[in-house]
Amino acid sequence: MAIIIKSPDEIAAMRQAGRVVTAVLSTLAREIKAGMTTAELDDIAVRELAKYKAGASFKGYRGFPASLCVSLNEEVVHGIPGERVINDGDIVSLDFGAFVDGFHGDAALTVGVGSIRPEAKRLLEVAKGALEVGIAEAKSGAHLSDISAAIQRYAESAGFSVVREYTGHGIGRNMHESPQIPNFGPPGEGPVLQEGMALAIEPMVNIGGWETRVKGDRWTVVTADGSLSAHFEKTIAITRGGAEVLTPWDES
Ligand code: MG
Repeated sequence: MAIIIKSPDEIAAMRQAGRVVTAVLSTLAREIKAGMTTAELDDIAVRELAKYKAGASFKGYRGFPASLCVSLNEEVVHGIPGERVINDGDIVSLDFGAFVDGFHGDAALTVGVGSIRPEAKRLLEVAKGALEVGIAEAKSGAHLSDISAAIQRYAESAGFSVVREYTGHGIGRNMHESPQIPNFGPPGEGPVLQEGMALAIEPMVNIGGWETRVKGDRWTVVTADGSLSAHFEKTIAITRGGAEVLTPWDES
């Protein structure tokens, strides 16, 4: 499938969706605390979303029952909010998507609740750094897999692994568009990036091995070895100057 090139007006619409995603994730990161259930986080996301003329991208997507994905500790992605209680020392991945005027934004971050172990803290730093080095490669004229290679190199040189079965993706009128963006592989391969492409870059980094499995709820992805996992994601657009981050959750 071809990569859809967005016009400046379409990128402007995506900026709006990105602002909503950023606002919701920033509120969640601020309000999360031990003793809450994961369903309460979904409630907060729904409450915040209601302040905007926006829809929740995940709700009903292939039957997903909530607006927010909440994945704890060894859970990688796609955790379903429910009655599980968040404890001090947990790391919690929050993944949220919204659409405005027909265009989607998608982003995620992992936060530590209370006092987390040093290895968990380092995992968060490395996974966030992996996203940043990936974004730094996302510029006109680069190859798509330059992003993948930078992410893998960064995470593995820290002694961690990158999940291989789930990838980043193009984004626009659909939450998932071409191309898939793996978080591993050699540089210099795949399509050449150009202005007007919009990408959701999202490394998932594990302390142990890269292998995953899906739990009995058929959604929640966990590490096969039970090790901790972190997930950071931003939607970016490729512009003349490089990557414009449309979901700048760490700057708000
Ligand atoms: Mg995504």
